[in-house]
Amino acid sequence: MDLIEESYSRLFPEKSFNYQTELGYNLRLSDFNANIRLRGQVLSVNLNLQWKDIDEEIKIGLVQSLLNKIFKAKKQTRNIEMYNHFIKNIPSFTPKVKNDPVLEESFIRVNWRFFNNSLEQPNLQWGLAAFHKLASYNFHEDAVTVSSIFKDCKEDILDYLMYHELLHKELQFKHKNGRSAFHTREFREREKQFPGFESIDREIKSVIMKHRSKNNKFFKLNLFSRFNS
Ligand SMILES: [Zn+2]
Repeated sequence: MDLIEESYSRLFPEKSFNYQTELGYNLRLSDFNANIRLRGQVLSVNLNLQWKDIDEEIKIGLVQSLLNKIFKAKKQTRNIEMYNHFIKNIPSFTPKVKNDPVLEESFIRVNWRFFNNSLEQPNLQWGLAAFHKLASYNFHEDAVTVSSIFKDCKEDILDYLMYHELLHKELQFKHKNGRSAFHTREFREREKQFPGFESIDREIKSVIMKHRSKNNKFFKLNLFSRFNS
């Protein structure tokens, strides 16, 4: 079976398939990533090697998601549902290799306070001393990364950043018309449950200012896009 042709025919049963296909596995892509390219009539899909032993029906869902993108379609299929379900569960089988005592304490506090201790500990790490991207959650790697400018900040500030990222871990992403949404209304409402979040927002701003003047680097402060993910 040609995986790409099969995926296409199930996604667009009304269309005929007039492409040559190239399917490759490699290690250049990061965890569970994949990409698609159309050059002339050649449709190529590259998958991270980790996909090799994954169930074909799930891989068809992955390829169909890529086909949706490249052909600007928004089709939903049973395979795409399976693929999304699989992707959401990746964190539970990702090995935990990165940890840091300060971040771990913050994780434990936030997990108790806001998640009834229901979350599994993700990878935890300090990132570069970045001002734009203060913290992020990568669900392929199940990793929370916090900018090093917060290394000596107050507990509350760190916990607030941790809380935001753990909400991403818990809520994952919502699918709406085939597109992913990260900061949904539900997300924003949950985020406001952090006591004193408004004053913490201001304190975060002052931490950034302090570090900025120390490093004297150009940056643009945009509170609404602080969190890249
Ligand atoms: Zn976010």
